[in-house]
Amino acid sequence: MELRIGGAKVVLVRGDITEQDAEAIVNAANPSLMGGGGVDGAIHRKGGPKILEECKRIRAMEWPEGLPTGKAVITSGGDLKARYVIHTVGPIWQGGGRGEPGLLREAYLNSLKLAVSRGIRTIAFPSISTGAYGYPIEEASRIALRAIKDFLEVEDGLDEVRLVLFTEGDLKVYEEAAREVLKP
Ligand code: ADP
Repeated sequence: MELRIGGAKVVLVRGDITEQDAEAIVNAANPSLMGGGGVDGAIHRKGGPKILEECKRIRAMEWPEGLPTGKAVITSGGDLKARYVIHTVGPIWQGGGRGEPGLLREAYLNSLKLAVSRGIRTIAFPSISTGAYGYPIEEASRIALRAIKDFLEVEDGLDEVRLVLFTEGDLKVYEEAAREVLKP
């Protein structure tokens, strides 16, 4: 599925985030920035040790206590096709009353802002927080798409925002959300 918002296209695809040829891919990281499971593990495995070295430097220089939920930082893409990895931390689902929707929105918005500030024109996101962090995907997909839409309506600079869903079921959920959230 492909839609146009402002000067950019928003593309929903089934795939593996580590295989994307976008200029930047987004990592669903945890505050430690030291790797983990899911998307995080796959990115560090395929991207090689350079990414982890840069993450360690960021921890030491900028975030000694860890990257707070909703914030984003950038490293090179190591051995990945993508030139950059933007690491952001989504919220852990705790029932929805602990600020999770706002924090998930911030994770998307701060990643997009960081990309534009570095002159990146194509960015690919996984479905942040909907794996180990347990965020219900029906809600998370709407928040993701609304954040992307709101951003693209006011900011120039991006040519493509790609959402890369790992399963056919997840892709269907995002496509349904897109029909609601992104309708003209
Ligand atoms: P979080 O801790 O933010 O929930 P996860 O990495 O556990 O992050 O999961 C986020 C989503 O990414 C889940 O829907 C999961 O199925 C999906 N996922 C896992 N591996 C990949 C991958 N290689 N590419 C794209 N999506 C992936």
